[in-house]
Amino acid sequence: MVQALLIEDEQRIAELIKKGLEEQGLSVTIAYDGAVGKKLAIGNDYDIIITDIVLPKINGIDLCKEIRLQRPTIPIIMLTALGTTDDKVEGFDAGADDYLVKPFDLRELHARIRALLKRSQHNANAHGFVIKYADLQLNLDTKIVMRNGKEISLTPKELKLLEYMMQNPERVLSRTEIAEKVWETTFDTGTNFIDVYINYLRKKIDRDFEVKLIHTKPGHGFIFKKMDNAN
Ligand code: CA
Repeated sequence: MVQALLIEDEQRIAELIKKGLEEQGLSVTIAYDGAVGKKLAIGNDYDIIITDIVLPKINGIDLCKEIRLQRPTIPIIMLTALGTTDDKVEGFDAGADDYLVKPFDLRELHARIRALLKRSQHNANAHGFVIKYADLQLNLDTKIVMRNGKEISLTPKELKLLEYMMQNPERVLSRTEIAEKVWETTFDTGTNFIDVYINYLRKKIDRDFEVKLIHTKPGHGFIFKKMDNAN
């Protein structure tokens, strides 16, 4: 669900926008002044910020500049009753991505939000597609694996096995499935190469961490799941 932060001091307008966006499936948090807005924007991980310009405590222009320092890539839309070119330029200079003059149609706001989210998603992909699970992340473009901020070095096969497990979390994966999907071969019960690779991966991914992610399901296969105790 898209998490939006709306910073707007006029309660009636704020609630109207919130209601309209929630009908479109967004989750909306309202801040009624610039100071609360700043605190929320920096302390949380919103997908998009929508801010009025004339606000108590910190105005929308200064707020936008301050948010930009901490969160350089978050999409920001400015809303304002002021609609002159100078205001728009100032808004864009402060780091806003888009600008909407009040009164506006909620459908227009929603369309702008969709466009910005699409763009930011595109930018995120340009920086590498990342799969995350618990405190483990795998960047599919750079092949860098990090756990709790620490880089883990894997061989290409270990990486491919981990990628398959991370894309199929919390589900029992049989040796047959792993052999077919990761090794593109059929599983021969006479060999234990999958167990060998699982053990290699376990040593690198789990050994130094309290929470274990790779578990054996005796008689069934393996499961990639966050669990506090090793089995
Ligand atoms: Ca206002």
